[in-house]
Amino acid sequence: MNRTILRRLSANAHALRIPRKLFSSEAASEASSSIPACPSHVHEENRGLTKDVQQYDVAIVGGGMVGMALACSLASMPLTKQLNVAIIDSNPALQSKLLIKKEDPPDPRVSTVTPATINLFKDVGAWEYVLQHRHAFFDAMQVWDYTGLGYTRYDARDIGKEALGCVVENKVLHHALLSCLQNTELHKTIYPSRLTSMAIHRSSSSTHVDSTSTTTTLHSRGNLAKLELSDGSNLYAKLVVGSDGGKSHVRELAGFKTTGWSYPQNAIICTVEHTLENHCAWQRFLPSGPIALLPVGDNYSNIVWTMSPKEASERNSMDEDDFVKALNHALDYGYGPHPKSSLLGDGDMFSWLRGDAASSTKESFEAPPKVVKLASARMMFPLSLKHANDYASKRVALIGDAAHTIHPLAGQGVNLGFGDAFALSRVIAEGIAVGTDIGEVSLLKKYEAERKQANIMMMAVVDGFQKAYSIDFGPLNVLRAAAFNGAQYISPLKRSIISYASGEQKFPLFS
Ligand SMILES: Cc1cc2nc3c(=O)[nH]c(=O)nc-3n(C[C@H](O)[C@H](O)[C@H](O)COP(=O)(O)OP(=O)(O)OC[C@H]3O[C@@H](n4cnc5c(N)ncnc54)[C@H](O)[C@@H]3O)c2cc1C
Repeated sequence: MNRTILRRLSANAHALRIPRKLFSSEAASEASSSIPACPSHVHEENRGLTKDVQQYDVAIVGGGMVGMALACSLASMPLTKQLNVAIIDSNPALQSKLLIKKEDPPDPRVSTVTPATINLFKDVGAWEYVLQHRHAFFDAMQVWDYTGLGYTRYDARDIGKEALGCVVENKVLHHALLSCLQNTELHKTIYPSRLTSMAIHRSSSSTHVDSTSTTTTLHSRGNLAKLELSDGSNLYAKLVVGSDGGKSHVRELAGFKTTGWSYPQNAIICTVEHTLENHCAWQRFLPSGPIALLPVGDNYSNIVWTMSPKEASERNSMDEDDFVKALNHALDYGYGPHPKSSLLGDGDMFSWLRGDAASSTKESFEAPPKVVKLASARMMFPLSLKHANDYASKRVALIGDAAHTIHPLAGQGVNLGFGDAFALSRVIAEGIAVGTDIGEVSLLKKYEAERKQANIMMMAVVDGFQKAYSIDFGPLNVLRAAAFNGAQYISPLKRSIISYASGEQKFPLFS
């Protein structure tokens, strides 16, 4: 399965090369001359009536975390902050600033953000808003296996950092990006609506795609994308960015195909309470999937528990006390014993690799803190892997879950999405610098080339983990334990894994 994605990547690699000519000034002026300088509106005749239709440089369809990150990034750069941007999303959080009360328990929808994402947020000025709300940096992480054969403890000191990541509620990340955007000069218009159809001018005529019909008609209106919204409004844009999530309408309307599969697993998420504050991210691999206990600040943690859909429905409907018992069972002694610390002892076969041993190499296994109470409702999510075969075509680019959805076991989904958003904004700035039409496919393919490879690598690694831990088979269990012990005791490998998961290194084995 991983090969399917990797094969498609190499097949696409040729097509991803950007013709140099495009970036010559001659080509750039050719490209830009086909696009009118962006007026704020154009006149459209409709059954004899003339109405104003707004025109934008960029229309961001989907103002979730990733769409808002793109808007903030555009607002932060000298070349892009002059752009005229439309943000289309009916989510009420975009209209009225959500009041986040410190005394409320954390929302169960959280994200583990990597140091690389934190740096991107700092660059655009959004991190200071995250720091005003509840968040939890963690400097240690323990991953182990229910068989009791192996464990790995990671420590931020292994890579000379203070934290491995930070767990933040999604609503806090979203609110931080919105607050940041509101303090910029970006010319933005928020449409509290949903995209229903899109017409893209591809050559001398445009193809009209309607979500409610399969008919294709030809228009001869300008060389821009035309969007129709659920409230009846229309707008034009040089570039339409689909940041509208895993069921992306932009992806469907633009005709991007996807590769992927559903996992025979659902995730239950919820907030739980302990008697003490938790500072470590814990993850235990169980026969039916991993369970993660992530610190979220104060005495709260977040649970992401993956299991078969049948088990998930049963556990979702358990009464609260039974669910808490099942949680402690899954996080501690249930299914198998604790792994022994220092399984390999002194003088093991890996000792020559230790050299400048990572500081956590000799740290012993610890049991996670007990859950005493459920602090939120439980939510259940089906899990899947989905990857758009293309991220860009003329006038359209996909970012975030619209381009890729990934199993949550490594907490990478939105981090990849933020990487897309910032990469796309840089490519847009590059296009503006040389006078290129920002909806030109050869420019947008540059964004695709940069992000596709990074996303596919992460998806392949995470999918490989998911599959390796889906099988309960003696010899494979021993191999997995060897992998855990390798990661625990081989310092360079351990450092590589941490750097990769932090978003600071491309791929552990290729660097
Ligand atoms: C259980 C679970 C745990 C996870 N944990 C982590 C983690 O720890 N770390 C991590 O990095 N990732 C994690 N993820 C993944 C992460 O939640 C997603 O990657 C992220 O939410 C994607 O953000 P997005 O902005 O791309 O899409 P979304 O959050 O889906 O936002 C899409 C937006 O588009 C809008 N929209 C949809 N259709 C339309 C339309 N037609 N017109 C206009 N607007 C539209 C929606 O209203 C929404 O606001 C987890 C996922 C799950 C399921």
